Amino acid sequence: MNTISTLQTMIDRAHNIVFFGGAGVSTESGIPDFRSTDGLYHQQYEYPPEVMLSRTFFDRNPEAFFRFYRDKMLFLDAKPNAAHRKLAELERAGKLTAVITQNIDNLHQLAGSKNVLELHGSVWRNYCTRCREFYPIETILESKGVPRCPCGGVIKPDVVLYEEPLNEKVLYAAVRAVQEADLLIVGGTSLVVWPAAGLIEYFKGDNIVLINKGDTAYDSKAKLVIRAPIGETLSQITV
Ligand code: ZN
Repeated sequence: MNTISTLQTMIDRAHNIVFFGGAGVSTESGIPDFRSTDGLYHQQYEYPPEVMLSRTFFDRNPEAFFRFYRDKMLFLDAKPNAAHRKLAELERAGKLTAVITQNIDNLHQLAGSKNVLELHGSVWRNYCTRCREFYPIETILESKGVPRCPCGGVIKPDVVLYEEPLNEKVLYAAVRAVQEADLLIVGGTSLVVWPAAGLIEYFKGDNIVLINKGDTAYDSKAKLVIRAPIGETLSQITV
């Protein structure tokens, strides 16, 4: 039996699928994984993305942060790909209960998914660091330099920067979803970045499926490993 038909059988038999995805889910929508595209940034920027996307850098060099952020982190014209669409379809069919994502691009919601747990937040939401007022993406796009609230506070994207903790409520909901799942599909992540690997430890079922172009840290624990792009793989599944 080939891997796609094995995956199809596992999905057919499952009642509570949870999907956990990383940057690889969005690369097929044209959004690069900044962790894997080092060369590009170093030519144009003084610091590596991990530094520029840290809370310390945001607080100390907000002008440089927003230059980089507006230039490299916003892909507002990106469209959902076959992976996003299939996951939304599985949710509508009552098979999938949650999508847990490390991506900040809103593409799962655009594809129609309702229960999306955004571990790293979303570029579409922004808030004042002083009064906590929320602002839409337009506030970032229409402002120059450092966007500010009428109260004087700096407006920050609602994304989790390096050095910042994850949102506890979102993380807790993700842990619960993984604990209750009977099939865990992990896609587009090599599972080296915390909390990805940690979340998998909460899974109590037998069936973990890993779909990733490269090796992952959990290949040996998976029931099924598929070495292919996630959209290409999920597009072959029938709901
Ligand atoms: Zn404010």
